Amino acid sequence: MATSSVQTHCPYCSLQCGMRLVRDGRSLEVAAWEEFPVNDGALCRKGWTATGLRGHRERLTTPLLRETRADGSRGELRPASWDEALDVIATHLVALRAAHGPDAVGVFGGGGLTNEKAYQLGKLARVALGTSQIDYNGRWCMSSAASAASRALGIDRGLPFPLADVEDADVVVLAGSNLAETMPPAARHLDRLRQRGGTVVVVDPRRTATADRADLVLQPVPGTDLALALGVLHLLVGMGAVDEEYVAARTTGFEAVRRSVAPWWPERVERVTGVEAAQVRALADLLGGTTRRGGRVMVLTARGVEQHSQGSDTVLAWINVALALGQAGRHGAGWGCLTGQGNGQGGREHGQKADQLPGYRMIDDPEARDHVARVWGVDPASLPGKGRSAYELLDALGTADGPRALLVFGSNIVVSAPHATHVARRLADLDLLVVADLVLSETAAIADVVLPVTQWAEETGTMTNLEGRVILRQAAVAPPQGVRTDLEVIAAIAAATGSPVEFATDPEEVFAELARASAGGKADYAGIDYARIRAEHGVFWPCPERGHPGTPRLFADAFGHPDGRARFLVTDYRGAAELPDAEYPLHLTTGRVLGQYQSGAQTRRIKDLPDAGPFVELHPMLARRLGTTDGEPVTVRTRRGSMRAPARVVDTIRPDTVFVPFHWVGANRLTNAALDPASRMPEFKVCAAEVTA
Ligand code: SF4
Repeated sequence: MATSSVQTHCPYCSLQCGMRLVRDGRSLEVAAWEEFPVNDGALCRKGWTATGLRGHRERLTTPLLRETRADGSRGELRPASWDEALDVIATHLVALRAAHGPDAVGVFGGGGLTNEKAYQLGKLARVALGTSQIDYNGRWCMSSAASAASRALGIDRGLPFPLADVEDADVVVLAGSNLAETMPPAARHLDRLRQRGGTVVVVDPRRTATADRADLVLQPVPGTDLALALGVLHLLVGMGAVDEEYVAARTTGFEAVRRSVAPWWPERVERVTGVEAAQVRALADLLGGTTRRGGRVMVLTARGVEQHSQGSDTVLAWINVALALGQAGRHGAGWGCLTGQGNGQGGREHGQKADQLPGYRMIDDPEARDHVARVWGVDPASLPGKGRSAYELLDALGTADGPRALLVFGSNIVVSAPHATHVARRLADLDLLVVADLVLSETAAIADVVLPVTQWAEETGTMTNLEGRVILRQAAVAPPQGVRTDLEVIAAIAAATGSPVEFATDPEEVFAELARASAGGKADYAGIDYARIRAEHGVFWPCPERGHPGTPRLFADAFGHPDGRARFLVTDYRGAAELPDAEYPLHLTTGRVLGQYQSGAQTRRIKDLPDAGPFVELHPMLARRLGTTDGEPVTVRTRRGSMRAPARVVDTIRPDTVFVPFHWVGANRLTNAALDPASRMPEFKVCAAEVTA
């Protein structure tokens, strides 16, 4: 058999590294795709081993149905035909809708789904099922940054510039990002910046692999990042580093912000954050000194500062810093967010969010409803309104006015939801839980119906990476027999539940419809098609028409608000929702490790990736106090649950903080679901905890 090679992209994080899949007979190998500009052929070990799930013994190839025992209790999952499984789903959904109304059915999507799938899921909910109850796990990824960017800059695009622009900055502040571990090929931009004489600053309670590449490392108490950003702006104002001309010409609202940061003296910042006042001054001097010399400052935020009940305010405060220094919209400068999930960006643009229709249109905007309804061929009055955010949707499951059935695509909620034991109880209260997945994830294992779907190497579809670059994943191999694509599953459920319109299953056809639906919106894909993406190695949105070059850099001349100006917005420090006390004296924070991805449903099954299981990272001083040593099991308890795992004793973490990676069951039994009022982001990154040996 001849060798074939397909250009595609990694199935995991938001960098969406380009790779080639080389097929030789039965084998499928990952090879470098040097011409793809985002990673120049470099991949992390997750990318190199990504074909490890192909032919995996745990791969699902037939639908599964939960049996009912003679006494009415739930039995085991058993194999079923597609017709039988779809019939069970349709019968339940139609009956629930008739008895309780359309909002009795909920849909839960994922930030790893292709743009086409995200679009069809939104349409499934609003058109076929008529429910407002749809949201996705991307709400837990970068909703705080999305909310802040929309309000301050008028457009929510994670990075408003190509990632390579990092190399052109003179100072880069990484607030809450460990990119050297989470997206290693991106770290070369930091290395090149430093080779040019630039400076890297890392803000993180843990001294991570990224901090090893930094010139200045600040380790605040988890949950206090907002105070640090306020303190930095206070000092910049005091030293006269504000670019008054830029502020007057390109922004509004600065005077209120100037007044609001007045009380944030470095000594107060030190009391709140634990970062020494001298370090706060050093950071402000670095930023202010750089821009005064005409240098460029870039601030990049990520989950470390965003997954908090005040995450959107913290991002706003860092955007205020970038605006005050006159940096946003300038080449090699400004603010950006490093998205986490593979399609964290595109996943929120096409309508699987509770409050948005395709193209970033707000669902309560009459013009937006008219436009999208026309594309869908339905009456705008038939479209439901705004639904619940991800955690609120799960929290309402099985309650008097909450959904009684849930369809889950591309998400392993039992591992990834905050306060996960509570969420698991809510899932158990459902009349029907349907999960589409490749393997029997922890969530699929408790479902009533499990639908086996294709994995990335077996299907084609677009993703939008952290830069807003729309790229194309291309199928390299046929799926195993018995497996269907998510698009086929969505179309089948739509048809079986009486959808007034047909759902396309060909990804290119879906993309063309998606592009029409997005036309005129902020995330405008109207000028993009598969042929162009192939030819140009991706196209940046907005791209409103054929022949438009796409938009790698936003804000050079105008921000996204109607008057073209960015908004300074006042942010008041509140602190974390749960603070340490006598019973729970420590801060708990969570995050990722190099060899695993998200809930681990895929990466934990890849034998060539290290899977040492969960661990509890703690400082030697704390270990001594507990009477434990490296490798000994410890128990972490919070008000919501507990877990036991080996201690990993390191002097790179604050002595008052413990860290648990979230790729395994356990970490999210501990986390706090306190929500950010603007973004509805749960507070994954800090809660009060007790550790015992
Ligand atoms: Fe895949 Fe992200 Fe690793 Fe690139 S950095 S190979 S996209 S997991």
